[in-house]
Amino acid sequence: MSSLLEATGISKAFAGIQALSDVNITVDRNERVGLIGPNGAGKTTFFNCLLGVLPIDKGAVWFDGQNLEGLPVSRRARAGIGRTFQRIELFDETTVMEHLLIAERICNGSGAFWKDLLGLGRPRPAEIQRCNEVLELLGLLHLGNEPIETLSLGQGRLVEVGRALMTNPDLLLLDEPSSGLDLEETASLSATLQAIQAERGFSVLLVEHDIELVAEFTERSYVLEFGTLIASGTTAEVLASPAVRAAYLGTYELEA
Ligand code: ATP
Repeated sequence: MSSLLEATGISKAFAGIQALSDVNITVDRNERVGLIGPNGAGKTTFFNCLLGVLPIDKGAVWFDGQNLEGLPVSRRARAGIGRTFQRIELFDETTVMEHLLIAERICNGSGAFWKDLLGLGRPRPAEIQRCNEVLELLGLLHLGNEPIETLSLGQGRLVEVGRALMTNPDLLLLDEPSSGLDLEETASLSATLQAIQAERGFSVLLVEHDIELVAEFTERSYVLEFGTLIASGTTAEVLASPAVRAAYLGTYELEA
């Protein structure tokens, strides 16, 4: 059986900077895969190529047996690719539940976005139920009616994940979910992500600088450096490889 995601020979340049060179990455169903590499390695560019935010120069993205060439971002989301953002992109005064509703309605193309923002598109009972299910999964049910501005950064990151989950993705692209979190918040996020992935059974491609989170959460990993894959394999093998240690020299310590 073919992989859920097969990105083959992906290349992308920006005005002379080769951000990605012939990158091949696969993710199987229900698999948790890491994508790591130093700053500027091309990780975010790769996400944007998968999502259709950026056109690729060469290569192909196959998802669930379909070639995504030419499909806009919204169609890729409906095909089952969800994402979270590196920087939290939430509206301060809007409640947690409203964020989830808006995310779902945008993805479903049920439009009326501005009507929703103005409170004119009343949520249907089925929508509220879906929101509550996601909030319960994330341990945020008690915060559904709270404005985003009252949440901690860690809780805000979970709302980001919740927005992505509202569209029932088969593949979730997580872009540095631990960014800005302290050790305790990162550990809690990691535990929650593991629990929801086990319960919902979607695949994950995780871009993350926190190597401990990658080691704990992912089964397999790829390493990018200057737009080229320099290692791939089980996460334990990859993190132990001399090339990866050299690429990250001084930025993390591995336990013996
Ligand atoms: P970080 O870990 O710092 O987020 P990254 O691995 O995600 O880095 P990218 O943001 O994908 O790396 O950047 C890869 C390269 O492409 C870098 O040299 C970057 O400066 C360049 N780049 C990315 N986006 C653009 C753009 N829109 N225009 C020009 N250059 C870009």
